[in-house]
Amino acid sequence: MDLTAGVRYAEELYSADEPLEDVLASIREKGMPEISVSPGYGRLLTLLVRMTGAKQVLEIGALGGYSGICLARGLTEGGRLLSLELREDYAALARDNLKRAGFEACTEVRVGDAREQLDELIREGRSFDLFFIDADKVYAPDYLDKALALAKPGSVIIGDNAFYHGKAYNPDNQGPGAIGIRRFNERMATDSRLESTLLPAYDGMTIARVKG
Ligand code: SAH
Ligand code: MG
Repeated sequence: MDLTAGVRYAEELYSADEPLEDVLASIREKGMPEISVSPGYGRLLTLLVRMTGAKQVLEIGALGGYSGICLARGLTEGGRLLSLELREDYAALARDNLKRAGFEACTEVRVGDAREQLDELIREGRSFDLFFIDADKVYAPDYLDKALALAKPGSVIIGDNAFYHGKAYNPDNQGPGAIGIRRFNERMATDSRLESTLLPAYDGMTIARVKG
């Protein structure tokens, strides 16, 4: 990660987080993409779950379980995390890592395309208190629509990689992922149902609250 001096200063204040370091090592060992959420935003995920008292948490994009552990750490009695992941092998590692971190009982990782899984959750009439949207950026706007269908007043919606490694604000980049994350960020900023902010450290993160 290319850290600015401010981010490096902030990271140095925190001691090493061994369970999360183990997750990063397991991802590296398997040759999986090293795109887990940044440590500072991982800590923020824990805080947001804890501060909102969220009981039903939904993650879109599990990878190796790094952000899943951060979300699960914030859960209180009776809280649950459901994580959606396209790839069976990634889901298996995420389950292993969540178990190793002590969160097997309060977490579930489901395999399949997130758009279909979200539609299924909508059909089931489910609702969630907090969403972490962090899968393929092409479909980020669709994930937001479906999250809104699963949300209630006061629910929190978080989007990772608002800058998409710089592609979001490079107008020459008209790739589908760049277009997707731009639309997502614009929707988070302007949708009348949401109040939100964009945190510009690391790779950017958007946080919104559903009004009402
Ligand atoms: N949230 C993780 C990182 C997720 S990386 C963390 O911070 O620890 C993005 C993940 O989204 C990858 O694991 C990828 O396999 C998954 N993904 C990509 N397309 C998807 C889709 N259509 N449905 C569900 N998951 C998808
Ligand atoms: Mg991410």
